[in-house]
Amino acid sequence: MSKRDYYEVLGVSRNAGDSDLKKAYRRLAMKYHPDRNPGAEAERKFKEAKEAYEILTDPKKRSAYDQFGHAGVDVSGGGFGGAGGGGFGGSGFSDIFGDVFGDIFGGGRGGGRRVHRGADMRYDLSLTLEEAVAGKEVKIRVPTLVECQFCGGSGAKPGTSPKTCATCNGAGQVRMQQGFFSVQQTCPRCRGQGSVIEEHCSHCRGQGRTQEHKTLSVKVPAGVDTGDRIRLSNEGEPGERGGPPGDLYVQVLVEEHPIFTREDNHLFCEVPIGFVTAALGGELQVPTLNGKVMLRIPAGTQTGKMFRMRGKGVRPVRGGVIGDLICRVIVETPVNLTERQKELLRELDEAVQAGGEKHSPQSTSWLDGVKNFFEKMGF
Ligand SMILES: [Zn+2]
Ligand SMILES: [Zn+2]
Repeated sequence: MSKRDYYEVLGVSRNAGDSDLKKAYRRLAMKYHPDRNPGAEAERKFKEAKEAYEILTDPKKRSAYDQFGHAGVDVSGGGFGGAGGGGFGGSGFSDIFGDVFGDIFGGGRGGGRRVHRGADMRYDLSLTLEEAVAGKEVKIRVPTLVECQFCGGSGAKPGTSPKTCATCNGAGQVRMQQGFFSVQQTCPRCRGQGSVIEEHCSHCRGQGRTQEHKTLSVKVPAGVDTGDRIRLSNEGEPGERGGPPGDLYVQVLVEEHPIFTREDNHLFCEVPIGFVTAALGGELQVPTLNGKVMLRIPAGTQTGKMFRMRGKGVRPVRGGVIGDLICRVIVETPVNLTERQKELLRELDEAVQAGGEKHSPQSTSWLDGVKNFFEKMGF
């Protein structure tokens, strides 16, 4: 059976952004998720959408797909969970809502719509690069609503209790006559609750809940990066009237580092070296996140040259190969020279110039190119 176009599967245009993709995928996943919708056809559609989403949200795979189609991203041989026919451990679903760490922290959300489920909350957690790479257990203080101790959560003044609503007799619904029709409506007096509070609890102003703070311990796994989220199940806002609580999402934000920048699991740093070292070669110490290492600079190193140190980058949070540390060498031109130093340099320059192409192949070929260009253009 030939495969459908990924954009067509998700029903998005070819220049759809990540949020469009996410929206489309969420819609399809809700529709076809096997937990809600058993049957082989729904499962196939769910897998198809999941695969399309995974490919199109990965910039490298997306560009390969755009260029070469399905041949560019052969998922059958690769390690794609959903594509090859693996079981549904709920991971597909938690990917959408819990993004990355749904399964680490467990506690699936469970299907079904719950009217009084508490809201999800978000906590922005700022980490240094070192902390993000090594992982860390952090304590965070988050606001939470707790049952009011004065009224026991009823919202009524202590000593009193909510009274059955006289308008609906506690049903929460009333029948209204509209022309020929009798329609059922939420009771306007008690707003569907079936009871009314005559005197509000002054402590919680009738809400039945008060705001407190709680301290939570969050295990940040090693290798997280900006944009990763850690879900703490049931730590969001408490549900109303006995409903289940929402989840708390800890959103990771990694601060800028003075030396390293991170790209995926690789670390980059710029290393300035003197032009003499660049010419003669030498060794220098460069920092890594776990100590110093020696970097050997070969003779004749040009500015911009990158040196890759395998395995000195970041261990990926989802497992896999540790990234590299890539040092980019910048040859520094000396400044504030003394007369004597200038003299030495001029002397050196003469000797180097005399060698021409032998010592300066780049400038020589550039100058030749410029000369040819001028001749051709008749300058
Ligand atoms: Zn109260
Ligand atoms: Zn009522």
